[in-house]
Amino acid sequence: MTRKKTVIITGGGMSGIVSALRLSRAGFAVVLIEKNKTLGGKVSQIKGNGYTFELIPSFIEYIEVYEELFKYLGLDIKKYLNFKRLESAYKFNFSDGTYINAYRDKNKLSAEFNKFEKNSYKKINRFFKENKEKSAFIKNNILGNNSNPSITSKLNLTLKYFQLSILQKYWKNIDKYFTSEKVKLILSFYNAYFSIDPYKDASLFTVIPYEELSKGIYSIKGGMSSVIDSFEIILNEMKVKVIKGDEVSRLKFNNRNITSVKLKSGKEIKGDVFLSDINRIDFNKRFLSKKIPSSYINKLEKSNLSNSVITIYLGLNKKFKNLEYHNFYINNNLQSIVNDLKKIHNEEWIPSFYFVNPSKNDDTIAPKGYTALSILISVPNLKYRNNWEKIFPEIKDSIYRIMEEDLNMKNFKNSIKFEKIMYPKDWINKLSLYKGSILGLIPDYWNPINLVSQKKSKYISNLYFSSVGDIYSRPGVSWEILNAKIVSEKIISNCRV
Ligand SMILES: Cc1cc2nc3c(=O)[nH]c(=O)nc-3n(C[C@H](O)[C@H](O)[C@H](O)COP(=O)(O)OP(=O)(O)OC[C@H]3O[C@@H](n4cnc5c(N)ncnc54)[C@H](O)[C@@H]3O)c2cc1C
Repeated sequence: MTRKKTVIITGGGMSGIVSALRLSRAGFAVVLIEKNKTLGGKVSQIKGNGYTFELIPSFIEYIEVYEELFKYLGLDIKKYLNFKRLESAYKFNFSDGTYINAYRDKNKLSAEFNKFEKNSYKKINRFFKENKEKSAFIKNNILGNNSNPSITSKLNLTLKYFQLSILQKYWKNIDKYFTSEKVKLILSFYNAYFSIDPYKDASLFTVIPYEELSKGIYSIKGGMSSVIDSFEIILNEMKVKVIKGDEVSRLKFNNRNITSVKLKSGKEIKGDVFLSDINRIDFNKRFLSKKIPSSYINKLEKSNLSNSVITIYLGLNKKFKNLEYHNFYINNNLQSIVNDLKKIHNEEWIPSFYFVNPSKNDDTIAPKGYTALSILISVPNLKYRNNWEKIFPEIKDSIYRIMEEDLNMKNFKNSIKFEKIMYPKDWINKLSLYKGSILGLIPDYWNPINLVSQKKSKYISNLYFSSVGDIYSRPGVSWEILNAKIVSEKIISNCRV
């Protein structure tokens, strides 16, 4: 009988956990190592005064990837997760008092668009139809093809890029369907807010608003972290060895192979295959600097990094009827929003921002009749400014004034019973985010083509990367789950003898 191969996974974030589940199901012995005392990484919670907040992710989308995972594991998803589709994906509030509520019902959605754009129903249908094909292509090829592609397949891919207008500029592409600046802004904002420049980057990313508007956004009781709780139960049932509160601090090598990981506690764990769920720049700098050319690390360091964020977690002692689950306040035109991520701001800056109100659907996260609200403000990363703590109080005051006056949330300031703020520096300490950049490397215009083959290390034969976060900007938990499937399949196929 042949010995089971051992996979060592560094990092228990979403993509590390899902890879552990899949590889264990495929017959590998799996060891998952997480430096924090809890699993989940960015998917975790903050609690205080009876309120619970998701640390970061709040959009739950593309639930078909969760369904596929449970099918693969041979488990009934309904026993573990109960997603509910939201009536409205999000509400965009503009500074002139107008708004667009992105309802799941297409008639209601087009009625909202019709406030600014005639004949929206037809236009939305066309946008959905063309993006459906693009989305399938991206999932199957850009994320899916992880080998070094041959010249013929590169040519075929390039041809398809042109057929699907993937290399058309984002803004020009959206312009094909809609004329209203407000409608175009809501189809671009969320990407722009996470460092994809609609005027410079490829229209590949229009699939994101398409997926959100056509398939919807979901909620789950207890928030995204309850998904991690369920996964932890399954890891246990599958006998995956999980080590929490200990950190991988060194790797041992035999030529171009890793042979073991050394932990901070002094433990050494041997393995056959090694998978990293941590930030790619950090991993390369910290563990591989003697094994890979310094030019590669320099190249990574010089690449463009995404923005950072400041988050405010607020416990309020009342409910506000005019809040949807996901909400945006748009203070500016799109070009200014893009420019705002690459500027040194002062205390007079009034940003656009995102705010999420999960207590609309979930009465377990705040005392009865109260609200747990998180506000997320995209800010330039630490290459631009590192002393946000100094200027933020004034900026925060402007945001609270907008809440109270422009968004008509009466007595907002007086209703605050709990407040916690996380600054870019906190992300470095808590999640090792390089320069506080929340999504790591961001694509430039040609990047989509270069992204094809990055799951296996170019320099170390038995090393793989599970996190999509730093190769495909504005990812989400679902993309991580999908990427974990792809990298696991790659490992399974490479280890088949
Ligand atoms: C501001 C922001 C908003 C977002 N909003 C959404 C959203 O609304 N919806 C959505 O779906 N997605 C959202 N995302 C994306 C989502 O959070 C990520 O895609 C996903 O959580 C990343 O998972 P991961 O496993 O790749 O990485 P991580 O969650 O970063 O996990 C990496 C893990 O590795 C651990 N680690 C690091 N170093 C070591 C070491 N040496 N040894 C052991 N362990 C180590 C870390 O502690 C961490 O747990 C958002 C991201 C950000 C930053």
